[in-house]
Amino acid sequence: MYLKSLTLKGFKSFASATTLNLEPGITCIVGPNGSGKSNVVDALAWVMGEQGVKSLRGGKMEDVIFAGTSGRPPLGRAEVALTIDNSDGALPIEYAEVTISRTMFRNGGSEYAINGSSCRLLDVQELLSDSGIGREMHVIVGQGQLDTILHATPEDRRGFIEEAAGVLKHRKRKEKALRKLDSTDGNLTRLNDLLSEIR
Ligand code: ATP
Repeated sequence: MYLKSLTLKGFKSFASATTLNLEPGITCIVGPNGSGKSNVVDALAWVMGEQGVKSLRGGKMEDVIFAGTSGRPPLGRAEVALTIDNSDGALPIEYAEVTISRTMFRNGGSEYAINGSSCRLLDVQELLSDSGIGREMHVIVGQGQLDTILHATPEDRRGFIEEAAGVLKHRKRKEKALRKLDSTDGNLTRLNDLLSEIR
């Protein structure tokens, strides 16, 4: 599995549709300060479902939409599409190529799609979690974040490793199942109380 291409349109400084075609192996993006290198990384995190405004280096989610320049008016929507090569079947979906897209309008709300079919954020997160790209996005290490990881507590560091290994998804599912069991237990107790009152 590798990231094959990324298309940005109306996302941060990328007003016009811009596609970056990536090859297997290491890709370096170089450019002067403020030319949009980090915006490309923000777009990657955003299309994979990032919800944290701070992680996207903004004040509010709307800040990802092209805000306009002296020569170009602001746009009403941001769109990012990420195409992943899945010929090794690393993602649990029967396609050799998977395109995840996210669109956001100024009036709020995001729309997601997988291979052109609209879906929920949860579907995107579930699809990616087996690949080690989880909802906490620890696979994207931003400027200055390396220090945070190096100085993390053993528990937090374990969390990073679990996420990369795809264990976190099962832990979350277990927690959800335990919560359900708990509430079912509560229902059973109430039912038994009612039954003993009727008898
Ligand atoms: P550095 O090398 O200094 O880290 P960089 O290449 O990573 O820089 P970015 O931080 O990706 O640069 O891009 C910053 C630029 O993106 C700024 O010029 C900023 O004005 C522009 N920008 C950010 N958000 C928007 C937006 N919503 N609309 C228009 N431009 C934006």
